[in-house]
Amino acid sequence: MAVMLTLYDSRVRQRDFLLEISRAMTAQLDLGEVLRLVLNASVVMLSGQIGLVALRETDEDRYTIRATLGVESDRLPDLNHRLDELVSSVGQGGDREFLTTKLNQMAVSLDRKLRQSLFLPLVIKAEPVGLLIVFRSLWAQATENDLQMLQSFADQAAIAVYNAQLYNRIDQDRKRLAAILEYSADGVMFLDTQMRILGFNRALERMTGWTVQDALGRDHSEVIEWARLEHEDLQQAMADGWPFRLGGEAPTDTLYVEGDLVRRDGLTLSVGITYAPLLNDDGKLTNIIANVRDNTHFRRAQEMQNVFISTVSHELKTPVALIKGYAGTLRREDATWDPSVIQNGLMVIEEEADRLTELIENLLATSKLRAERMRLDLSDVQVDELATEVVERFRTQTTKHTFAVSFPNGFPLVQADAVRLRQVLDNLVSNAIKYSPEGGTITVGGEVDEQIATVYVRDQGVGINENDQARVFDRFFRVDGALSRKTKGTGLGLYLAKAIVEAHGGTIRVKSKPGAGSTFYFTLPLTSMV
Ligand code: ADP
Repeated sequence: MAVMLTLYDSRVRQRDFLLEISRAMTAQLDLGEVLRLVLNASVVMLSGQIGLVALRETDEDRYTIRATLGVESDRLPDLNHRLDELVSSVGQGGDREFLTTKLNQMAVSLDRKLRQSLFLPLVIKAEPVGLLIVFRSLWAQATENDLQMLQSFADQAAIAVYNAQLYNRIDQDRKRLAAILEYSADGVMFLDTQMRILGFNRALERMTGWTVQDALGRDHSEVIEWARLEHEDLQQAMADGWPFRLGGEAPTDTLYVEGDLVRRDGLTLSVGITYAPLLNDDGKLTNIIANVRDNTHFRRAQEMQNVFISTVSHELKTPVALIKGYAGTLRREDATWDPSVIQNGLMVIEEEADRLTELIENLLATSKLRAERMRLDLSDVQVDELATEVVERFRTQTTKHTFAVSFPNGFPLVQADAVRLRQVLDNLVSNAIKYSPEGGTITVGGEVDEQIATVYVRDQGVGINENDQARVFDRFFRVDGALSRKTKGTGLGLYLAKAIVEAHGGTIRVKSKPGAGSTFYFTLPLTSMV
């Protein structure tokens, strides 16, 4: 009768413990707390003195003690080490008998009074994830009841470990996703089905001028306001049934909206927004994800290309018209021309033909550059001599300008492609003349330090404002101004000059102040360094 009562008693206590443990798990206490409760229950119920829970490290075959009862903390590192060695020597699902003997020895080494160890693996989906051990001084055959009890606690511990692993994984995924969104160069936002903003990343703050705090909870249309719209916007598309436009069954993929956005500060920005619907398992729309891309560069490139096409056709038409005009006049059979008129006409024809050739060569060089790397025919070049030659040639073409060449004595040789280098100097000097219509001095000079030679071309012309300085080397870029409109050019000269200098391993830059002239500098590595 007494035995029966004890058994009954112990069942009640076991139930109470299990209840406490499951309450702790639902209250989402951390894993350590749940393991401690499990250990406490196991030790009390089995009349043990010491309890341990060791867990297998994820993706590793190592065991770490994660909860203890009755062990002084300074013994823990040694115990951990021995346990890890023991479990790994036994291997997964290893020899139980051997493990029992070893654990019994470990028990004695911990405390001479300890006699016996009871243990069970923690198992999740047939995978061992840890070990629950109770050491006791009592030496008694573990009863079926003891083991069942331990099993019930071990099961609880395994579930807690599984939950923690799951939670960790979800938490990691969530953090990873949040980081991707936060640092994405594209703007990203989430909307609910009412088109209210639930999420808003940093890139979007920059694009729209709205802060996250201000944007969250607002209506999408308050933040995404269009100054110009190519087709329909999200609101119109949704009113029209998006994302279920194809008869309501399968959603019609994403929606692309393009146009100019009015930022919060009133400025506009060209963007393309891709809206993707997020559906639940029943196929109902739950969220909309918007990916916003800044199209400014793309639009600018398109505009430049358009301007370029009209400039080039104009540039091609002018010399052709002149050539045709002079040729037609000179070959008129009903007129006899003075030799000087003939000479003058032929000179214009020759000059215009040269200009055409140059333009065509620049165009070809540009399109070739886009397709392949520039190839150089390198030799030792005396840059100061080359600069003098270039200046001499331009001197005859202008009366408004004076020229100076300024290189220190003994300017070193550079290894370069002489033809290409001349092209760079030609371009810089020709620009210096073109963009100083009032005249002034144009200086071509050089400086040298231990490793690099710097060559510069300085004028006293109109100069370039700071915003445009970074862009003058762009393909097709021309400063927007009265002078550029009057002056012939395609916006290719500096682009090619930069490509040539960079192919030599050098750099090119400009220093300028509007109204106070410009200086273009480029560097070349010295021969000995190549
Ligand atoms: P372009 O054929 O138009 O001269 P470039 O590529 O040589 O093309 O130059 C690009 C633009 O940079 C020019 O249109 C001009 O507006 C500006 N620029 C170039 N050189 C100078 C200079 N020395 N002074 C002022 N502006 C310049």
